[in-house]
Amino acid sequence: MGLLTKAPRGTADLLPAESHKIQYLETVFSEIARSYGFREIRVPVFEHTELFHRSVGETTDVVQKEMYTFNDNGGRSITLRPEGTAGVARALLEHGLYSEAMPQKFYYQISCYRYEKPQAGRLREFHQFGVECFGSASPAADAEVIGLANRFFQTLSLDNLHLEINSIGCPKCRAAYHKALKAYFTAHIDSLCDTCKGRLEKNPMRILDCKSPVCSAIAAKAPVILDYLCDDCKEHFAGVQKNLDVLSIPYTVNPRIVRGLDYYTRTVFEFVSDAIGAQGTVCGGGRYDGLVAEMGGSALPALGFAMGVERLRLLMENTGKYFPEPEGYDLFLICADPAAFDTVSRLTAELRDMLLNVERDLCDRSVKAQMKYANKIGARYTAVLGENEIQSGSVTVKNMHTGDTASLPLDDFADRFLSLLNDDSLREWSDDTHAPQTGGFTVLDGGKKKD
Ligand code: ATP
Ligand code: MG
Repeated sequence: MGLLTKAPRGTADLLPAESHKIQYLETVFSEIARSYGFREIRVPVFEHTELFHRSVGETTDVVQKEMYTFNDNGGRSITLRPEGTAGVARALLEHGLYSEAMPQKFYYQISCYRYEKPQAGRLREFHQFGVECFGSASPAADAEVIGLANRFFQTLSLDNLHLEINSIGCPKCRAAYHKALKAYFTAHIDSLCDTCKGRLEKNPMRILDCKSPVCSAIAAKAPVILDYLCDDCKEHFAGVQKNLDVLSIPYTVNPRIVRGLDYYTRTVFEFVSDAIGAQGTVCGGGRYDGLVAEMGGSALPALGFAMGVERLRLLMENTGKYFPEPEGYDLFLICADPAAFDTVSRLTAELRDMLLNVERDLCDRSVKAQMKYANKIGARYTAVLGENEIQSGSVTVKNMHTGDTASLPLDDFADRFLSLLNDDSLREWSDDTHAPQTGGFTVLDGGKKKD
């Protein structure tokens, strides 16, 4: 295939047959985020390159290998966002939101860009749902943010995911830890990859996150930060665990989690699954108490998480979880005579004004071919409009699943059809046993339930 008909490597189209799945996840996520007091923020797809160097960190894989960076026509260095936190923190500073009442809580649903080797669950353009909470140092905030992610996964009935937490301390406790790490890795320096050799002096913790098999085998036996935490960080980590216990959120402490971005401090966590292959981390997050100051603001404790939407979807599909059906068609209006054409046009528009999903023929098909098409798209009802119907002033609508028919007056067709549909929906709604119990989610579409 030529370049004109092939999308760039590592990108994926979302076709109408699948887009409803992502819409469902987006709706559930945003409703839960709002119930936790988060409000949506939208930030640009690109930022000044400097922002990511400063926040994500010069020695991270993301900055060293994965960014889409280019000069724009004005000669500025621009980078497509590899993650969401930096842009949100930048927006907080730019708009002075740090002087508003705390905490400031944001959620987002964004695309991200990383030049990586594409494979299952790893793309070059991918999507994240995330939250950021600024202004609270309390371990209860950590538990709330983790609790939000946990609630989301529970709502989707995802049981094949477990929570792992760790503390990676603060700059104070890291000084001693860095020393120990340096001593350990120096003893293995000849086996480390070239990138990690360079990291040894600047940022030895980054070696713990290297994907090369040799480095990760060496890293597996390195000293762990938990043994080096200062008293304040220890107390905070104990507080996080206590607050998770209060909320009955199960977790395990994994002292090997460090996360791939430099800005993390204290709590880090991941939700991991073994049902989606090697890229098992669906959600990662943690505290980044130093980031806002690093970017030039006053010190402001903060934390957040981001989850990969493609990995989430993969996990849902691989473990057979519920997705709603794609939205169907309520009615196909068949035009059986040129004399009825304008009436079909008017009725279609009127029904669509009521937000019903209505289709009609736009390809000059025969009645038989229109019927076939209505079947193909799975229209729930059909109605044939010809000369007879115009003259008699009534139309027969047919339920394509039950074969039931009803005669409706043309001059009140839209309202009468809507009541017919609602009566049907009530019956089906009470029969529906597939949807998870999620409380008041509009996404589950109680009013216009499709079969
Ligand atoms: P990994 O170790 O798998 O590379 P990461 O630590 O780089 O992940 P984060 O920067 O923490 O990932 O991003 C949060 C989440 O975004 C990840 O847990 C994952 O679900 C998702 N994610 C990250 N990179 C990609 C990618 N290239 N393609 C798809 N999803 C991704
Ligand atoms: Mg990565």
